[in-house]
Amino acid sequence: MKNEVKNDFLYIKGGEQGMNGKTIVILGGGVGGIVAANELRQRLSRNHRIVLVEKNSEHAFAPSFLWLIIGYRQPDGITRPISSLIRSGVELVQAEVEKIDISARLVSTSKGQLTYDYLVIALGAELVPETIPGLSQAAYSFYSFEEAKRLKEALAQFNGGKIAIVVSSVPYKCPAAPPESAILIADYLWRNLGRGKFSISLYTPEPQPMPVAGPQMGEAVKQILASMSISFHPLHKLKEVDVKNKHLLFDGIEAVPYDLLIAVPPHRAPRVVIESGLTDETGWIPVDRNTLKTKFENVYAIGDVTSITIPGRWKPDVPLKLPKAGVFAHFQAETVAERIADEINGRMPTAQFLGKGYCALEMGGGVAALAYGDFFGEPSPKVQMRNPSKFWHIGKVLFERWWLSPFGVKRSLLRSMINIGNQFMKVPLKI
Ligand SMILES: Cc1cc2nc3c(=O)[nH]c(=O)nc-3n(C[C@H](O)[C@H](O)[C@H](O)COP(=O)(O)OP(=O)(O)OC[C@H]3O[C@@H](n4cnc5c(N)ncnc54)[C@H](O)[C@@H]3O)c2cc1C
Repeated sequence: MKNEVKNDFLYIKGGEQGMNGKTIVILGGGVGGIVAANELRQRLSRNHRIVLVEKNSEHAFAPSFLWLIIGYRQPDGITRPISSLIRSGVELVQAEVEKIDISARLVSTSKGQLTYDYLVIALGAELVPETIPGLSQAAYSFYSFEEAKRLKEALAQFNGGKIAIVVSSVPYKCPAAPPESAILIADYLWRNLGRGKFSISLYTPEPQPMPVAGPQMGEAVKQILASMSISFHPLHKLKEVDVKNKHLLFDGIEAVPYDLLIAVPPHRAPRVVIESGLTDETGWIPVDRNTLKTKFENVYAIGDVTSITIPGRWKPDVPLKLPKAGVFAHFQAETVAERIADEINGRMPTAQFLGKGYCALEMGGGVAALAYGDFFGEPSPKVQMRNPSKFWHIGKVLFERWWLSPFGVKRSLLRSMINIGNQFMKVPLKI
């Protein structure tokens, strides 16, 4: 069976594939949804249907947005049609999810309705800059493909002044991205404008960069920022942007002027998820941290849309939340796919998500550092930083090439290279 994009349908009904055929519906074809669909297709026979619902036809690889803004990548180098990233036999429905009715096991979309035997919610996080006055008018961003393209143009035309990079609220995806963006932009402008023509200041409501990773990691990142003359301002909670006078207004702190504003916009769960009644007081979907089960039977949630409690750090008895990152969405998707497939195939599900993850922090000049660790570690998450080297940068490039490659020999080869590299460098993770 070839990949099929269903652009027109009225009703897909679960539980109709003969005696034992099941329908697994996955909502959201981003990182988690794509991995879940591919893993399920590989593990289940063809009498079971895997339906992936995604509103966009193209997938843009978010980690490469940081390379896009400084011209290391062109826009068409980091996007692919979603149909080229999924295994043959996954049914791709290009539609907007409009309503999730758990009690009726019914999903309504812009193109029709679906029922399911198993539901995997992988709808990610919605960006809502409009919730902070002035932010959407004033700020550039690298948090979406369209915004990253706009910022690329702004940086190419920038001829000096004060750059403010602002984390406008927590939680947000990829805690390494704000310092990484500051470092890459500084490196780019040094080469294109020269030193002394600009300053970069990084503001965040957090106490340090990447707080979940602990004080040692925070200190290491602060030192890298300082070595590049980037000033770091913790505990700055953005209240408003004075667009006319180009000032940032923080809670209880004097107004700060800027010439170019780059923001990590506020995040929230997509509207359709909030309206489904699946979220808790955090605004995200609570799940069992090992199985990714929600409190509803046969309904799982993975990736950025979830809220997962992890051990405390600053105050060990005050738990933290697992950061939002593609690496977690990826491993969670593998866990959920294995568990659902085992259940359908009559085996006891044993797969568990264990909170392991890694992240390469780009430092410009083809060099990156690597942070990896155990985010469920007791009494606090255990995260280590490996020294900056070309190796981690090459690893990131290989991962990008693997992710964007269609199924075939090249993709298998890239995967082997990444896994052998991880083994060689003693990074205990496998894709
Ligand atoms: C600049 C940047 C750099 C990053 N770098 C890294 C990195 O180096 N490492 C890392 O681990 N993570 C990184 N991340 C984070 C990573 O991209 C996300 O954590 C990851 O994509 C989450 O996967 P997900 O499946 O939960 O959500 P997503 O990948 O966001 O997928 C959600 C999907 O749901 C779709 N959707 C939403 N609502 C609807 C609807 N109503 N109907 C239909 N479809 C819908 C969306 O179109 C989207 O395709 C980075 C993020 C950014 C912005």
